[in-house]
This record gives sequence, structure tokens and C-alpha cells, in this order.
Amino acid sequence: MARPSPLEVYALLDKSNCKDCDRDTCMAFATDLLERNVVVQDCTHLMQDPKQAKKRNKLIKIVTPPQKPVTIGIGERKCIVGGEEVLNRHQLTFYNETQIFMQIADDDPEIAEIAKYLTELKIERMGEVLQVNGITLRCVSGDTEQFKLCSKKLTEVSDLPVMLACLNPDILLAAATEIKEFKPLLYAATKDSWEQVGKFAVENNLPVVAVSNDLDQLLSLSATLQKLGVKDLILDAMTVFGPGNVALTYDNIMQLRIAAIDKGDVNAGWPIMGVPAAYWSQVKTDDDKELWEHQYQEIIMGAIMQSIDCSLIVMHSGKRKEDIWALLAMMTLRQSIFSDPRIYPAVDAGIYIIGEPTEKSPIFVTSNYRLTKIPVEIDIKGANLDAWLLVVDSEGIGIESAVAGGQFNAGSIAETVKEFKMFEKVNHRILIIPGMAARLSGALEDEADAFVVVGPRDSSGIGKYIKEQWNPEEFMKIYEDLKE
Ligand code: SF4
Repeated sequence: MARPSPLEVYALLDKSNCKDCDRDTCMAFATDLLERNVVVQDCTHLMQDPKQAKKRNKLIKIVTPPQKPVTIGIGERKCIVGGEEVLNRHQLTFYNETQIFMQIADDDPEIAEIAKYLTELKIERMGEVLQVNGITLRCVSGDTEQFKLCSKKLTEVSDLPVMLACLNPDILLAAATEIKEFKPLLYAATKDSWEQVGKFAVENNLPVVAVSNDLDQLLSLSATLQKLGVKDLILDAMTVFGPGNVALTYDNIMQLRIAAIDKGDVNAGWPIMGVPAAYWSQVKTDDDKELWEHQYQEIIMGAIMQSIDCSLIVMHSGKRKEDIWALLAMMTLRQSIFSDPRIYPAVDAGIYIIGEPTEKSPIFVTSNYRLTKIPVEIDIKGANLDAWLLVVDSEGIGIESAVAGGQFNAGSIAETVKEFKMFEKVNHRILIIPGMAARLSGALEDEADAFVVVGPRDSSGIGKYIKEQWNPEEFMKIYEDLKE
């Protein structure tokens, strides 16, 4: 389905430029609507004027992505799954990264501790905070009271969205009744339970997963549930391990995505989920292999699913502190896959203060490529240094390429020194440039009237470099001698 242009959206708006939506013009609103910074409902004119109902409905239709978004949970930690417009990230962007739900069994005695740990877990990486998105409570006990009790316990100790996973609809809905105000995701409606689970989902406005390993049956379930009135649906074509099955699982997810996004199939046009955690119920794990070797298989499946924009995955490994490596692998991979290719990976040029620098502190020079600036900053902090970090506008390009391409050059560094009055903050004129920019040192000394020293090629060597080679008095003496 073709993405509408801002002009097509504008044509359906009120065009009064009233500013009620906090935009200066209806055209600005149209652009923001396409970027998902606002929703149609933010234009009060369009929503309240009965004469504009036809345009409003048409607008909602054209801006609704072919794969509809679904919200799970409430409050600050609620998550949105799906809602994508393209098959491949480079065609536009992916709007909602794969949501990672960690699975806990309802017979796990540490359920509260694990849920608390997962809720509070925050990993800061490259300027972003990486977190788990939800908890899947899996019914292992087969006991209604136990499942109800655990679902309540989860909502007491955690504000993460909850997926209730039980194929017995009576047990599933008993627990869902207990916590329905938290908008849990119901797993699942099958060919046998769709009516009971679907009706409950409609009555309580809850999202529900349709599951079948037969794609035709899954799409038929989707159609039936929509006809019943289900508004929020997620599709699970099932995750299977074993020879040939990884390819089959991959293929099913891709077929559903292609049907939704490229072919506009409304029955496939919903978020898709996968369950790498199924490894532990499908594969014999009481063999000679070490635990991590089994966990690794689950992680590989999770990584494959993330790489093809599966909307939500359920993981077993990584929910305890000792398994953090598994979760780190998933979250760091996800961070790379779901970065927006349209956003320039740059930070502002200028002076960044690290620690409590004084007039004697060193000045490190780097580029404004985000993935250069942030690691350099982390490495300087990691070396316990108080320093000035001078970030030069290299058009968001990393040091090596920017030196080769001319975006990081003696002139631009000297200009930045001048623009931000760098030398007024210190009692020296020493600039430490990255090892990869060594060839700029001579020209930079002339352009910036500075003494330029070449630091390590990799910022992880900054601590060692300062310890062994930083000698400002000596450097300034050489600078003064050269000036005479
Ligand atoms: S509220 Fe509606 S009519 Fe007013 S400026 Fe925004 S888009 Fe235009």
C-alpha cells in the first residue's frame, strides 16, 4: 500500500490553520501525522464537526499502517507492537522495535523477585536506555487459583505489561478477569477456543493472540475474530525448533509480513509474535550439553526474529541476573536493527564536560558521529579523568571516514576551538586528536595556534595514554620554544 503524501493528508484537513493542535499550520499537522507525532484525534475540528465525518474517516483509513499497531498494558510502561509500513527498514523506517517479553512460569517460587528485577533492569548503551518490555506468565501448574494468584502478584510488583499464556480458556479468562484493568494480552485464541476468548476480549477491550501453525487457518481465525469485534489482534504462526524448522518459522513470519504490508491482506495486517522460549518445551535439554549451549539456540531464534521485524518475542533465557548475557545480546542487536535510518547519527558540536575539568585538564577532540562521541565519552569517564571533550561537526561521520572525506579537517577543528572559546577555559593550548586523525596534526597546529598531540587510535587506550604520556608542562614548553 502506497504511503500517502503530506499533500494528500492536507487535502482532508480543515485547512483553517487554527493552531489548536499546537501546530502553526494544517500542513505542519499533516507532516507530523505522517511521522506519527500526532494522531488524527488531535485535530479537534475534524473530530467534532459532523460535516467533516467523511473526510475524517478517509483520513484515518489512509494513515492507518497496513500492519496495525496494538497496545498492551497501561501507564508509562505500556508497549506498542507492530504498526509497520515497510518490509525492510531502508524503505522508510521501522516505527516499533521488537518488544521483548520474558517468560515466567506460574509455579516459579521466585516469581515476584524475577518480576521486580526485570522491571527495574535498565542498561544504558550509546545514549539510550535498554529495557525489557513485558512479562509472559505461562500456566504450567494447570491450576486456576495458582494462575490467578500469580497474575495478581505480577501486577502488584511490576508495572510491565503482562501476557497471560494458557491454552485452557477457562483458566486464562479467570486470570484475565482478575487483572483486566491492566490490559493484559490474552494468549491465545485457537481454533477450539476462539469464540470464548474472542468474546471476552471484545467485552473487555483486550488484545488477543490468534495462534495456529497452519497459515490458512491462522488467517481464517483472524477474520473470524475481527468479525466477532476484536479490535486488537496479534498473530502467532508458532515457533518450532529442530531440523528445517527454523527456516519454516522464518518463512511463516515473512509470509505474514508480506501479505500484510505488500499485499494489503487485512487478515494478516496485525503484529506478529514469536516464542523462542518454546525451545525449552520442544527440545530435550537433559543431555551432555552445558546450559549455555541450549540457551544459545534460543537466543539465535530470537535474533533471527528480531532481524525480520517480528513485533514481539517471548524469551525464557535472560530473566535471571546470571543469564544477563542472553538479554544483553538480544537488546543490543535490537538497538542496531531498529535505529532510524533517516535520522542523522550526529550529536551537537561543542564542548562536553566530563567530570570536573579545570584549566589544567586535557582537551580531547573528536567527531560528532554519535557512535564515536559516546564511546569516547564513556572511555574518558571509565578512565576516571576530568576532561574537556571538544566535538567537531564532521557531518555525523566517524573519524576515519571523515578524515578521508575531508569533513574532519584542520580548518573545521580550528573553527570549533574558536567558536566555543575552548582555550579560554584552560591555561594551555594543547589539543589531543584521535590517532586516526594523526595526519592533521601539522596543519592543525598552524590553523588553531595550538600544540597538537596524537592520542590513541582507539579511545579505550585513553586512560593508559594519559597516565604514560600526558605532560602539559613539557608540551607547553615545546610550544613556547617553537613560537620563538
Ligand atoms: S487543529 Fe486541525 S484545523 Fe487546526 S491547525 Fe491543527 S490540523 Fe489545522
